[in-house]
Amino acid sequence: MDLSFFKKELDINVISGANLKDYTTFQLGGPCKALIECISARQMTVVATALHAMKIPFIVMGFGSNILASDTGVDTVIIRYSSTAPRITRNGNMVTVDAATQFDDLISWAVNENLDGLTAMSGIPGTVGGAIAGNAGAYGQQVTDRLTRLTLLGPDEKISDISKDEVHFSYRDSDIKHNGHIVLYATFELEPSDDDKALLLKEREEKLSVRLKKHGDWKTNPCAGSFFKNVLPSSNAGQRQAAGWFLDEAGAKKMFVGKAHPYTEHANIVTRDNGASAQDVYDLTLKMASAVKEKFGFELIREVRLLGTFNNAPASDPKGFW
Ligand SMILES: Cc1cc2nc3c(=O)[nH]c(=O)nc-3n(C[C@H](O)[C@H](O)[C@H](O)COP(=O)(O)OP(=O)(O)OC[C@H]3O[C@@H](n4cnc5c(N)ncnc54)[C@H](O)[C@@H]3O)c2cc1C
Repeated sequence: MDLSFFKKELDINVISGANLKDYTTFQLGGPCKALIECISARQMTVVATALHAMKIPFIVMGFGSNILASDTGVDTVIIRYSSTAPRITRNGNMVTVDAATQFDDLISWAVNENLDGLTAMSGIPGTVGGAIAGNAGAYGQQVTDRLTRLTLLGPDEKISDISKDEVHFSYRDSDIKHNGHIVLYATFELEPSDDDKALLLKEREEKLSVRLKKHGDWKTNPCAGSFFKNVLPSSNAGQRQAAGWFLDEAGAKKMFVGKAHPYTEHANIVTRDNGASAQDVYDLTLKMASAVKEKFGFELIREVRLLGTFNNAPASDPKGFW
């Protein structure tokens, strides 16, 4: 498969046989067929349309901060839709952003404009597109609270500009994660803060510092954030209960498989030492989930997305993931 024309004609990087460990925050994972780096909605649209025309299947990822890729990799083209150059426009309180923009760059920009609504989520890694697909959130806020409109590229290559209400979002999930639509742009309605900008900046700094303590820095403690979703409340009045609490009670913090283990500060963050394989991480998470099942009688649900094939998959997990 020759994809070199993307580079020659459009200056879009194509890396044949790229290793997924270089493109995920777990820093694990084998090769893919080719990885195409799209840094804007325009590039994303051109590449997806060309691949459709050539009948080449592909998978879209953002920054790779919610993915565990298998050691054997995947025999598929991956489009990495992620950029370090924020593309943001403001019209009053309405803010439109290219989905390749890093979510935290958007939050930092908003705080500097004295616009609130996303500040509590400061420091969540990944792109705006990835945040929307997984309905990311923290400290009582979620990305879709302020979302108003979306521009999507469908698997039929149609571009649609729709209201957020046309997409079903739920806790850390959305239709988009499963139906092959790609988020190109998102519009948020933010709120001018009544207070001095210094207060918003202070809130952001506090959140960044708590986050660093609780989650560690993925560059030195490779991970993909919380591995399991928080647990549904036992009554309608209740709030979700931290999966980390159940894991802690089930003794997960002391578990090791190969070089994979939970982070010392947070039982629901799985990290790993040098030399760990993605299979070590997967096996550890099976062990953690089964300890919770044994002690509390319910199944934890994975938040991290699996890419590729893992051994020892229980019947509830398919053999090849994604
Ligand atoms: C240290 C650390 C802390 C974290 N803390 C939190 C937290 O507090 N709260 C939280 O919710 N998450 C957290 N996460 C998880 C992760 O950061 C989020 O899920 C993030 O939103 C994923 O974005 P991404 O661009 O990396 O997506 P990826 O991991 O690349 O992809 C995730 C999913 O999104 C889809 N996707 C990506 N871009 C698009 C697009 N443009 N259109 C359609 N689908 C797309 C992919 O196909 C995939 O299904 C944390 C992760 C780390 C490493």
